[in-house]
Amino acid sequence: MKRTFLLLAAAMLLFSCSSGRKVVELTRLVPAEEVTVNYDECFTGKTMRFDFHHAGDSENETYYFDKLIREGDWAGSRVSLINPFDYGEQHFRIIDNATGKLIYKNNYCTLFNEWQTTPEATATQRSFPEGVIFPEPKNDFTIEFYARDHKTKVWEKKYSQSIKVKDFNIYPAVTPYESVDIHIGGDIANSLDIVLLPDGFTAIEREKFMSACKMWSDALFSYAPFTQNKNRINVRAVWAPSQESGISVPGKGEWKNTLLGCRFYTFNSERYQMTEEFQKVRDVASSAPYECIYILTNTDKYGGGGIYNYYGLGSAGKTGKTGEVYVHEFGHSLMGLGDEYVEIGNTVSALYPEGVEPWEANLTRFVNFHGKWENRIAEGTPVPTIKKDGTTEKDWKIGAYEGGGYLEKGIYRGWPECMMKALTNFCPICQEAISRYLDYMCK
Ligand SMILES: [Zn+2]
Repeated sequence: MKRTFLLLAAAMLLFSCSSGRKVVELTRLVPAEEVTVNYDECFTGKTMRFDFHHAGDSENETYYFDKLIREGDWAGSRVSLINPFDYGEQHFRIIDNATGKLIYKNNYCTLFNEWQTTPEATATQRSFPEGVIFPEPKNDFTIEFYARDHKTKVWEKKYSQSIKVKDFNIYPAVTPYESVDIHIGGDIANSLDIVLLPDGFTAIEREKFMSACKMWSDALFSYAPFTQNKNRINVRAVWAPSQESGISVPGKGEWKNTLLGCRFYTFNSERYQMTEEFQKVRDVASSAPYECIYILTNTDKYGGGGIYNYYGLGSAGKTGKTGEVYVHEFGHSLMGLGDEYVEIGNTVSALYPEGVEPWEANLTRFVNFHGKWENRIAEGTPVPTIKKDGTTEKDWKIGAYEGGGYLEKGIYRGWPECMMKALTNFCPICQEAISRYLDYMCK
């Protein structure tokens, strides 16, 4: 359901202002895959969080520092410290001040990125609270933020700030809530650590939330390749009750006082259920060691969303396809898999401009297919590939099937059906991409 709301703005072409900005190619600046970092030499073992406000409109963005927080043990890999996948609309880097060396890099997307493509952003300026986490450096460092140019998708440096690690203004972590193990596959250092957070559950609804967490975990592990990776994935829940039961539905005049402020009608789209209070989300998440956040809301109303390396969200009530929706949204939030479905009549998308290769692993415009599933298409398979009527999965071949990313034409996926298209099993392309990502995250 990620970005469903964007259909409202589908016909709107966006032009980003690149004049006067220093445009840099990531690969030219730092060949990320060649950088090696010694974790013990560079980091303390704890987590550091940099909170800021991301502000602007459809064409411009600025970053305003909020605060630094020293949190619990680092739950990420001690080996995979420079994210080599060119996913996301944003990335940040940590540079050691003394040596000028890159010691950490991670990619992500945010709700602000999506808001920038709405009609509102052409006439209004807004700010969203954001925050990134990274292993706490031992020595003074600089944090740098990069965003993609909307039109060309080339990285641009947007903001940098130097930090002294002995600064007494660095906040301690907030008082933790209760953390409950749902499934423990391995050690935090070389496992993927997922944290499930509640919203709209009152103090007497703890068991309801815990059963939803069990169902979430069971749903995830029922799909390949998560089934095969069960022993290197951890799922923990944080129990943090809300004042009121249920979730806000602004379009119906229903408002609830909930801990994380989740709501339907995000950007005026009824089923786009998200929260804009991301720093609060991180506050609660920090009660457990985590890399990925997923919010379960106390409602049976259909809706949710998932944003790469930000958070995923789903309704905990039973709505028929609850487990499938959980896993679909997790595909977005874990590694930014694109939606493979088509919106009939949709021919223009601000998200996937013509002539620019999507960064998502499971979509291509053939602008830069290299490194995706190009080598998985057998010789003799026609491209574009057509699914013949009456055929089933056993007859299908990896190819390039037209339609995806909400567009009917000009964009291709590798398999006729997928979890990212119609909530079936993940297609071979997505399965392989997820496995590669897990291999990186779990080193
Ligand atoms: Zn797929």
